[in-house]
Amino acid sequence: MSSESAALRPVSLRRDGDRLVIAWNDGFTGAIPFQKLRDACPCAGCNEKRQEPPDPFKVLTDAELRAGPPVPVAMPSRGAYAYQIVWNDGHETGIFRLELLRQLCEPM
Ligand SMILES: [Zn+2]
Repeated sequence: MSSESAALRPVSLRRDGDRLVIAWNDGFTGAIPFQKLRDACPCAGCNEKRQEPPDPFKVLTDAELRAGPPVPVAMPSRGAYAYQIVWNDGHETGIFRLELLRQLCEPM
């Protein structure tokens, strides 16, 4: 076995209500609520937003209003170590590395 095949990776991903359930190759299965997943989006735009002070008068964008709560609509893999997540409001610049997904996983 090469060191790469020993690396942590998902063996299955599925939707369970409003969360993503990931089974890992080490036998651990964890769940990530979609809102938590979206809040952790590592893209530059979201990183910038997180650094701004909270705005009590924040207005939802049209896309946010139309789409409702965040739900991933597609999760294509990006190389061997990451997934891109496409959201129901059209946001798709977040590339989630496997280590990040693993950190976000909550025991079920
Ligand atoms: Zn983002």
